[in-house]
Amino acid sequence: MLKLSKLVVKEGARRKVPRNDELKGAFGKVFSDHMLVAEWDGEWGAPRIEPFGDLKISPAASSLHYALQCFEGMKAYRGDDDVIRLFRPDLNAARLNESLDRLAMPRVENLVEAVGTLVSHDRRFVPSGDGFAAYLRPTVIATDPHLGVGPPNRCLFFALLSPVGPYFPAGFNPIVVYADTQYVRAWPGGCGGNKVGANYGPTILPQQLAARRHGASQVLYCPDGRITEVGSMNFFAVVGDDLITPPLDMGDILPGVTRRSILDLAPDLGLNPVERPFHLEDLHEAARTGRLREVFGAGTAAIVAPIKAIVTDQGGTISTTATSVEGLGPVAGALFSRLTDIHYGRDPSHAHWTVPIVQPTKN
Ligand SMILES: *Cc1c(COP(=O)(O)O)cnc(C)c1O
Repeated sequence: MLKLSKLVVKEGARRKVPRNDELKGAFGKVFSDHMLVAEWDGEWGAPRIEPFGDLKISPAASSLHYALQCFEGMKAYRGDDDVIRLFRPDLNAARLNESLDRLAMPRVENLVEAVGTLVSHDRRFVPSGDGFAAYLRPTVIATDPHLGVGPPNRCLFFALLSPVGPYFPAGFNPIVVYADTQYVRAWPGGCGGNKVGANYGPTILPQQLAARRHGASQVLYCPDGRITEVGSMNFFAVVGDDLITPPLDMGDILPGVTRRSILDLAPDLGLNPVERPFHLEDLHEAARTGRLREVFGAGTAAIVAPIKAIVTDQGGTISTTATSVEGLGPVAGALFSRLTDIHYGRDPSHAHWTVPIVQPTKN
């Protein structure tokens, strides 16, 4: 539990808030004036809000050698009513603790309040407008200054706030993905279901190869042909009236908050949410019989990312046809606008999915 009642605030220079047009195509490059930090050495010390800046840790820190680190990705949205809301942050909080458990690192029991404190303090960096938000990056790293592989005795929690614009600033651009059956991102019994840094670095090379060899912008990881995830997004296919995504039970799929929300919203769109193993063969078959309506990825950063073609080694390219409004198919488009309405406080029927952090004030 971070002791937020003992919060220490150290103000820094007040920097200029970027204009919305300066945020386009700059995901995670701009940060607010402050960060929230707290140290753990058996218990959590008093958290601090301090100027955003470099950390000082030992070069022997086990996070640097053994990837003892995990993180979360969530957004704070400034609504049309100027209320700043977090979207289902309880799910991020639970997921962070699952990642921490997996790494034998200390839990953070009050993540929602902790990030809320940072958002509230740096609220002038939460942009307004559809597609704009403050991306929040809570992270825990082990800082033990010795090289043994063992449970850490010292950790550091920090949370960063990065104002971001729409992931697809020029309208949705359906992507080509490469169905990779060689490189494996995650495996049953591994930690693909946790947001641990160790899962991400090794995906860069397969992505570069997919781009170079197949003109694809993302990798669709398909060990033995079984579809898992697309880059760092969850995978969805609309086949007939089914909205299909692979199940979580093998532990090799990240339990996305967007994934969960899309499954929850499916019945409202007249679709059956289906969590079941789905193979490249099933995708071929659905396309062959004309039942494959749409394929897309989903995650907090892009919300939805439409996929127009899947390049495979065996069977050539599988194309999806349905794209209408600005490159989004009707299902992805409907999901995107439903989610956007909830994010910006326009859908009272899903107000319980949001946590208001800051009520309107003049910043
Ligand atoms: C974060 C992440 C997602 C998306 O999760 P959201 O909670 O929806 O942002 C999907 N897959 C992977 C591998 C991820 O790291």
